[in-house]
Amino acid sequence: MGIPCNLCGGGERQVLESSPDGVCAVRCGDCGFIFLDPAPVVASCSHYDEEYYRPWIEEQATPRQALWQKRLKLLNGCHGVGRLLDAGCGNGDFLRLAKGGGWEVLGTEVSDWAVRHIQERLGLDARQGDLLSLDLEEGSFDVVTLWHVLEHTTDPLANLRKARRLLKEDGVLVLALPNASNHLFRAAYALGKMRFLRYYTPGEREVHLWHFTAETLQKMLEKAGFKVVRVGIDHSALRLPNKIVESAADLLWRLTGLNWSEALEAVAVKQP
Ligand SMILES: [Zn+2]
Repeated sequence: MGIPCNLCGGGERQVLESSPDGVCAVRCGDCGFIFLDPAPVVASCSHYDEEYYRPWIEEQATPRQALWQKRLKLLNGCHGVGRLLDAGCGNGDFLRLAKGGGWEVLGTEVSDWAVRHIQERLGLDARQGDLLSLDLEEGSFDVVTLWHVLEHTTDPLANLRKARRLLKEDGVLVLALPNASNHLFRAAYALGKMRFLRYYTPGEREVHLWHFTAETLQKMLEKAGFKVVRVGIDHSALRLPNKIVESAADLLWRLTGLNWSEALEAVAVKQP
């Protein structure tokens, strides 16, 4: 037995995939959660530098702006304007947009380049570090957002519990992350690249330690003390081929309730 399941604590597992460096993708035999075991040694976050964010600021700027606007609209539909914590806020594009929409914003980010960029060029408030290590005032935020962050953390359940403590009593958590039940994308990937999409590849830059489905995400949110309002589809594809797959997944979801999208979006409220 390797590391315990972060969702249920169980030790039963089925190996789905193994890699030359000994890292396996496993499915918990008790709750079905998929994760890497043993956890690979993740490279330091020093690669989140100016070069990393340059495409975000240059060629991807327009589709990214549209994505952030969609997410802000989602946020505004969940809670009246208030105090927002965007954990893992990247280069601060969402903070800037939310600020323009009347939100009082704070970002956290492990990247020192991004934090300096946000503070000095955007003139917004950001703290360097991860959600678990930062000392933030509990019960002080109306909304916490985690946009494609949880799958990179060493302890997602602890991160969700921390997010819950930071929220006010009527606070809302909004998050998005990759969907492990991304069957349509997997099929398109296999056809296009003539190989299967892996949960993990040695040496990859952005390792996903945890692979959520709509079901395991819902279970973990509930375990962390949230009432789940909905788990839907995160429409975050920036490129046209992926958008086509995304549209097919959206149609399937509406017709059958099966969420085979590439990424999930969840809204949850704090349980007293
Ligand atoms: Zn489990």
